[in-house]
Amino acid sequence: MDIDVFVASGSHDKSRIATAVSLLNGVQSEFRLAVRVAPVDTAALGNAGVLEPGTALKAASRFGEQEHKVWVTDAPFADNWFSHEDRATSVITTADWERYFAPPSLRSYVIYQLAQTCTIFAADLSEEMLENIAHEPPRGCANDLSANKANIRFGMLAGSLCPECAAVMTQYGMSDEQVAAVRRMLALVRDEALGTPRPLDPLSAFVVMRFSAFDENANAYEYGVKAGIEAAGFTCTRADDSYQPGALLTKVTKYIERSRVIVAKVDVQNLNVYYELGVARALGKDIILVAAQEQIGGLPTDINNLEVLTYPTGDYKALRESLTSALMPLVPRA
Ligand SMILES: [Zn+2]
Repeated sequence: MDIDVFVASGSHDKSRIATAVSLLNGVQSEFRLAVRVAPVDTAALGNAGVLEPGTALKAASRFGEQEHKVWVTDAPFADNWFSHEDRATSVITTADWERYFAPPSLRSYVIYQLAQTCTIFAADLSEEMLENIAHEPPRGCANDLSANKANIRFGMLAGSLCPECAAVMTQYGMSDEQVAAVRRMLALVRDEALGTPRPLDPLSAFVVMRFSAFDENANAYEYGVKAGIEAAGFTCTRADDSYQPGALLTKVTKYIERSRVIVAKVDVQNLNVYYELGVARALGKDIILVAAQEQIGGLPTDINNLEVLTYPTGDYKALRESLTSALMPLVPRA
């Protein structure tokens, strides 16, 4: 789903909103957000810089060409809410955040609000439907009502969409992939709110495979895996740059944590590969499995129902090309 995020050209928050958007695009690919210049400012809407919710939503719904749009403004709402949304349009205010509620940072507040907006758009909820299912009192879910504004912190610290809400959103048409994407967004909010942000490079791929030299496996890495990753615009890293006894596992975990996607070559029985695959899975990473066709029979049952990119042994061009196509949808929108 493509979503345009409109910000006034003179807004002091513009760079922080742009950072929030790029972080969101970096952790998932279901919702592709783009920052745009808002065609009107709040002065044009009258009322001395205070937004009447209905008027603001109506104005924002006419911004740009995209069906789904968000207006992030620093003008407060007349009813003092953080945001208003209706099916395909959302208006979020940053007014008072830094004065009364930060920390968490304004950036993580914007990420949190945009994650909620993505949920509402994906489930096609009207404001009324949303109010009917919102939690009051709050329970640490992105769907908390926060009638007492300071309670928004519970939802940010918890950084989760509760199972009940996930089920309801799915009934309203949100896909499992979209729910997973929103949960990754909320994990960003939680990590920042707890003061433990995890650095993530949206264009980095970490390769998990057996190390070897001068054989089929080594060639597959050099001419298939590495070349395919780099052709998609990602940097390619493997943990074998230098051998540091005892520190390898810590290093590998850090690489996995920091990478947008994990590419695992699973055609050779190797316990390290499966261990690292488990770490990547637990961290909610996108994973692409590759294997030579002739050797795919020996996959362990835990992973033999996952999709694997296969290539005829020795055909590194086929490997390179299928890997590049699998990675392209993960490239963040410019
Ligand atoms: Zn909930």
